[in-house]
Amino acid sequence: MSQASRIGIVGAGMGGITAAALLQRAGHDVVLYDQAPAFSRLGAGIQFGPNVMKILRHLDLETRLTAMACLPDYWTSRKWDDGSILANIPLNAEQARYQAPYITIHRGDLQQMMLEAIDPERVKFNKKLAMFHEDDRSVTLEFEDGSQDRVDILVAGDGINSRVREILFGEEEPLYTGWLAHRAIIPGAAARAAGADLNAKWWSDDRHIVCYYLDRNQDEFYLVTGEPGDWTNATGQMPSSRDALRETFRGYHPLVQAYIDATDEVTKWPLKTRPPLPRWHQGRVVMLGDACHPMKPHMAQGAAMAVEDAAMLTRCLVELGTRDLDATFSRYVDLRRDRATRVQAISNANTWLRAPEDPYWCYGYELYGVPVGK
Ligand code: FAD
Repeated sequence: MSQASRIGIVGAGMGGITAAALLQRAGHDVVLYDQAPAFSRLGAGIQFGPNVMKILRHLDLETRLTAMACLPDYWTSRKWDDGSILANIPLNAEQARYQAPYITIHRGDLQQMMLEAIDPERVKFNKKLAMFHEDDRSVTLEFEDGSQDRVDILVAGDGINSRVREILFGEEEPLYTGWLAHRAIIPGAAARAAGADLNAKWWSDDRHIVCYYLDRNQDEFYLVTGEPGDWTNATGQMPSSRDALRETFRGYHPLVQAYIDATDEVTKWPLKTRPPLPRWHQGRVVMLGDACHPMKPHMAQGAAMAVEDAAMLTRCLVELGTRDLDATFSRYVDLRRDRATRVQAISNANTWLRAPEDPYWCYGYELYGVPVGK
């Protein structure tokens, strides 16, 4: 049975926000901390499958997100040069089978709407975790601004460069995969004029470009690539250019060239990963999302896994309680590790939906149907 606890969550990414919202609804006293000075609307898109939408339903977000997002009937994999179809995988065309929609949406809109599911008084920006100390009753959090807070449980949703992970398991740089992602948003009208698919991935042997609308009205169309490339030691996004995209996708189909011609601001992002982490918890501290299983983004399931982790962690805390945290957290990891590691491996291999296959094991997953008690 659940006892109300004071729970500190570090990291207001998709995983941390979901954990905060679900744990708050379960009656816990939750505080969500993020290092960022404020919420910012990152210029990127995101795809969320039915596996995630069935969780967001518990936060009353499914209907609102579905009204705002684009709902592609198919995921279409196309050959880079002649555009021939390699695979046409039903998404919303089989919505009844999946029992939830598949959406593509602006990441900023999604994150903003998810944040609204949390009591705003309990979200603290400008709080960069520097250190924590644990005793047998609590965890004391120390932030870079010199402030402290004390919680019963610390949840780490602080992403691939997780400070919590470093404190628990030592400092280790993530691995640059040798691949980077270009990103750009073009006017939806330009994509429609060119005859765009709602959601397509164009593949050649060693690179690809994924293209989809970010909203129901098709006002914005998103391009995100995966391609080999060198990287500097910069940790995050850097400016790039239309010419760099042209060079990378030289010889690709005229439709892709039309998208590239319509770009204005183009950025690039290093794709980094880590090997699967053997432990996801220690004492009063537990991890989720990219903090414990970062991956290349080629399956579009990294944030989805963070959301699933958050939902399963909440279920374990509610159904198994907080008296024996080691048992509760161990059960959470038992329920999550195989699936997250499988997704991590397929995403890193970049094979997902290139050829016809049934993605039901991934998108059809019903987290609330999995028994938590043994
Ligand atoms: P993050 O989103 O990384 O959030 C971590 C948060 O922690 C940040 O807000 C950060 O500011 C904060 N933080 C970090 N350190 C500290 C600290 N010391 N103190 C306080 N706060 C801290 N996934 C999908 O599901 N679908 C997609 O379509 C998709 N597309 C992608 C496209 C690209 C190009 C990339 C790179 C990734 C994509 N992903 C996608 C993957 C997805 O972005 C990540 O897997 C996901 O964001 C991980 O969520 P998270 O909550 O674990 O961590």
